[in-house]
Amino acid sequence: MNSNQHSATQSVNKTEIKHTTCAYCGVGCGIKAEVNPAKRTVNVIGSDQHPANYGRLCSKGSALGHTISTDGRLLEPEINGQQVDWNTALDTVANGFSDIIKQHGPDAVAFYVSGQLLTEDYYVANKLMKGYIGSGNIDTNSRLCMSSSVVGHKRAFGLDTVPGCYDDFQQAELITLVGSNTAWCHPVLFQRIKQYKQDNPNVKIVVIDPRKTQTCDIADLHIPLNLGTDVWLFNGLLNALNEQNKVNHEYLDQHCQGFENSLQAAQASSGNLNALADTLGVPAQDLQTFFDLFCQTEKSITLYSQGVNQSSSGTDKVNSILNCHLATGRIGKPGMGPFSMTGQPNAMGGREVGGLANTLAAHMDFNDDSIDRVQRFWDAPNMATQPGLMAVDMFDAIDEGKIKAVWVMATNPVVSLPNADKVKAALEKCDLVVVSDCIADTDTARLANVKLPATGWSEKDGTVTNSERRISRQRGLFEKAGNAQHDWWIINEVAKRMGFDSGFNHTNQADIFREHAALSAFENSDAEGHRLRDFDLSNLQTLSDEDYETFEPIQWPINAEFPEGRDRFFSQGGFFTPNRKANLLGITPKLPVNLPTNDYPLRLNTGRIRDQWHTMTRTALASQLNQHISEPFVEINTENAKQLNIQANDIVSVKSKWGEMLGRVVINENCKPDTLFAPMHWTQVLSKQGRINTVVNPEVDPFSKQPESKHTPVNVSQFSAQWHGFVLSRHTTAWPEVDYIVSAKGKQHNRLELVHGTALNNPTQTMLAWLGFDNEQQVSEQGLELLSYQDAESGLYRLALINEQGALQAVTMIAPHQNLPERTWLAAQFEKESLNKRARNALLSGYAPAGEDIGRIVCACFSVGEKTIEAAVKSGCCSAEAVGDQLKAGTNCGSCVPEIKEIIGQMDLGT
Ligand code: SF4
Repeated sequence: MNSNQHSATQSVNKTEIKHTTCAYCGVGCGIKAEVNPAKRTVNVIGSDQHPANYGRLCSKGSALGHTISTDGRLLEPEINGQQVDWNTALDTVANGFSDIIKQHGPDAVAFYVSGQLLTEDYYVANKLMKGYIGSGNIDTNSRLCMSSSVVGHKRAFGLDTVPGCYDDFQQAELITLVGSNTAWCHPVLFQRIKQYKQDNPNVKIVVIDPRKTQTCDIADLHIPLNLGTDVWLFNGLLNALNEQNKVNHEYLDQHCQGFENSLQAAQASSGNLNALADTLGVPAQDLQTFFDLFCQTEKSITLYSQGVNQSSSGTDKVNSILNCHLATGRIGKPGMGPFSMTGQPNAMGGREVGGLANTLAAHMDFNDDSIDRVQRFWDAPNMATQPGLMAVDMFDAIDEGKIKAVWVMATNPVVSLPNADKVKAALEKCDLVVVSDCIADTDTARLANVKLPATGWSEKDGTVTNSERRISRQRGLFEKAGNAQHDWWIINEVAKRMGFDSGFNHTNQADIFREHAALSAFENSDAEGHRLRDFDLSNLQTLSDEDYETFEPIQWPINAEFPEGRDRFFSQGGFFTPNRKANLLGITPKLPVNLPTNDYPLRLNTGRIRDQWHTMTRTALASQLNQHISEPFVEINTENAKQLNIQANDIVSVKSKWGEMLGRVVINENCKPDTLFAPMHWTQVLSKQGRINTVVNPEVDPFSKQPESKHTPVNVSQFSAQWHGFVLSRHTTAWPEVDYIVSAKGKQHNRLELVHGTALNNPTQTMLAWLGFDNEQQVSEQGLELLSYQDAESGLYRLALINEQGALQAVTMIAPHQNLPERTWLAAQFEKESLNKRARNALLSGYAPAGEDIGRIVCACFSVGEKTIEAAVKSGCCSAEAVGDQLKAGTNCGSCVPEIKEIIGQMDLGT
């Protein structure tokens, strides 16, 4: 090797370490990335320095390196499907918005943005809409996640302040998790809590959730309250605190107001214990146990999440929780406090900049003083003077033609908003739909007039804030892909083309961050020197580019009083209300607005699964994340399944007044009778009818306008299938014309699950067509060997294609029932260069060769299947730890440990 070759090899293999932040949930884990810029590859591990995760990552975070391919990326701007240059695209957007504003006024346009944006992106988007266009019509998908918490905080504390920090979970003696499947939705925080509980067995954990979820694995007590009854529960708790003399009158007298009022409302709704237990649908004894635990445990923390927020009374639920903590003074002290867990990586950053339509900027609202202050700071020519339309109302206004141009940034509302078909129809008729995204094909991008290629996680560079107010850097690992640009740059360029040069001349993201910090500090103290606003980054206003580059995670505020950041608020009061006192509110509980009827007798609850993120545009790119659960499903109680004559794995139709979806049935006792659960993730890009939000009602909380995603009256019925089938293929195949299709990426293959309501005329011919061939001759002309099996009487048809080297190219099977061969072994055959005789013989038999069938994947990190775990249990591994020792399953992110325990439990019971 000559010296030139040597140095070329060195530069190709040269890696560098960068510290960044995970792209997904609100835990905000730090990542240590080993980057190879030349090969554009990255290995990620948890950063052991980051205070959110101390080295841990969950399955989603661990797979980030598998989501960065440029395949499927949007790499060039497009107008009506035609590639254009940036100038043309930016001019089209700017002129389109300007023309509509000129003709119809500023409220005829809107931005719908995302908790996936970085704070710097968010800041300029908000500034453009509220300060320069002159409308409040910018709302974020965080509306769907935690806007009820924002309003709850503001009603109680004066401002949207999260009082505590993650360390509180490792100092508490009672941890109550409300409306949160922490194990799957915030896995690293769950792992921290779990470890703490293991080290401190006396710590009690209570899970309050209508469903039995994986989070219950560590619970001492699970309270499966009826959907929507949380306020009754926390009013009951406030009443119990009073009766057991646990109210902290000293704290209340000094720092709060409204206690009597809140207690009166609590007493009016609580009744006696048995009546309350009846309302909640839980045993009275369990309720008493929880009340006693809470009353007797000073160091008590209450985490709540979407199960509380996503409700037509979400804000009231939040305040009923805050009431109990304020009444006991258990707030802002180590191990104590209410804690709102956000869904997205930068939901908090969006709150800080004012990305919600009903906030202005930097934790200021639409009041005269703040409007004037922000106008002067921005030197804004067209300052918005009132809140804009919030998510559901915004898309209704698009549907009604009141909003004529919308710019959707880094989100997929056609999948994630309730009444999703109406959202789709609204965008179809909107005059101008602009979508900025890093992914080319999303349900929303399919409706765009203009598509703008944005940088993805591995290229974006800026800051995010996690659920405990900790600001971290997300650092670009690679050069921008193709012609993609940062969101802040795109927004600034459009602003300048709209004639707003002066406000959008930032030279880089650090420049925007300094302005954001300066706004937070601007006129932020009263005559006595009290901070007027909690959100204060005054010490960061003059941060140099170098300091921004090396910025270490820190919790805001960061100012003269708290130069190293602040972990907790309010232990000594100091709320952000006019008299600095917190408000306890009298809360009268309300049932969900849409209640079951004869036509729609069941209640649908929606949520997330362990290995997918939001609308799967990125997590579905990592094949290992598609293994655990690969189809949209509907979880139903055994009793209801029996009544409806539904069997496990059937396809069912879930219908509401708003729409219909098809999903595969899972039958268990996790849901209470007459309730269902379905995941929110599947899209039309990945499934024909798997979007659950087509079914979900668009009812919203009156204060926060957060949709009621956890409660929709529905009916469910078996889909009358004539056959079930699947295609596993090395090459992408077109979707056949059938009723149920779900697509998933696997290792070196793609998978289609198929179900249809009418019989196939010529099954073998049809299956060949699915693989792209008109007849068998075409197969042999391409040098492929066709293996086939058919049993017409039983309706079983199976085909496989093998190339000249003996490698599997495709396998497809159909049957009149859903009990088709397990796909895991078949999928694994695509990773082999050539099939051996044993594998060839087994291919169409329906059975993996003895000892090779690992079953459905349970541990995504190490691809360990259910049957392998069962075999380990049979061989004497009687605990999840023992299974982990033998198979490694559950030893990386730990998210599958509850399921491993379940398998062990079922085997113990002999079921
Ligand atoms: Fe990412 Fe998982 Fe951490 Fe959430 S818990 S930030 S998804 S690694």
